[in-house]
Amino acid sequence: MRAIVTGSAAGGGFPQWNCGCPNCAAVREGRADLRGRTQDSVAVAANGSERFALVNASPDILAQIKATRALWPRAPRHTPIGAVVLTNGDMDHVLGLFSLRESQPLAIYATPPVWKGLEASVLVRTLKRFEGQVVFRPLAIGQEVELADAAGESLGVRMRPFAAPGKLPVHLMGFATDSAEDNIGLSFRDTTSGAPSLAYAAACASLDGIDRDALAKHAAIMFDGTFFREDELVRLGLSKAVAKDMAHMPISSERGSLAGLASVTTRKIYTHINNTNPILADTPERREVEAAGWEIAFDGMEITS
Ligand SMILES: [Zn+2]
Ligand SMILES: [Zn+2]
Repeated sequence: MRAIVTGSAAGGGFPQWNCGCPNCAAVREGRADLRGRTQDSVAVAANGSERFALVNASPDILAQIKATRALWPRAPRHTPIGAVVLTNGDMDHVLGLFSLRESQPLAIYATPPVWKGLEASVLVRTLKRFEGQVVFRPLAIGQEVELADAAGESLGVRMRPFAAPGKLPVHLMGFATDSAEDNIGLSFRDTTSGAPSLAYAAACASLDGIDRDALAKHAAIMFDGTFFREDELVRLGLSKAVAKDMAHMPISSERGSLAGLASVTTRKIYTHINNTNPILADTPERREVEAAGWEIAFDGMEITS
């Protein structure tokens, strides 16, 4: 399988429009050890295929498609993107859908609560301009599906959603009720090789219920690298919320992913990195993460397995 990281930042991107934290200020000034990043998204395709499923529809989707040759149209009206998969209903994962409204048939895979959250907005009508413009295919935790485009043609990739503790999107809090399907991780495999290729969990509040042995069987895992520290935003004076409040586990500390996933000895990549995270710069924190065998995702990174 082939995966192209189209966006590796958490919500807000890097730099974030209204943030003057040390990282955001330095990347705007062009400091050499920092590179800008767009919001979380990854395009996956079977080996040898030119047709992709896009995992998450970031608000930066148009810039991401422009920056990724493999996603460029091959005809006057065409897209290599056959399907969009949503791992939760957060704005940084769904807002890009509305930028794909140019009457292009697309299959959308999401859990029922995530789809229901979208349906609560009148804006979703722009994706329903004609019958079959958007074909919704519901996902259930533990049930593998073979990804297909809106016409039902296989993309050559099998995908199994797994439980990843999360929460409702901020805009649905007090409007919808919590569900275990508010946030999911995804396990991919190529239909030809059959071996687990990539596990992807851009948001994960804890490792409760996560099968580490199953993760280790993948050629690579991409995991929630939002915050290095639990109280990262509090220390910078940016928020009163800690990582846990936003349904993210930090990289460091006893409850962090560095310790929690130490036994998973496959290729490990942090993604969905918040602009405040010190691993974005040349810091002791970045060296600690790299010394532990982790890679740090960047826009344009390719993962083949
Ligand atoms: Zn996010
Ligand atoms: Zn910032």
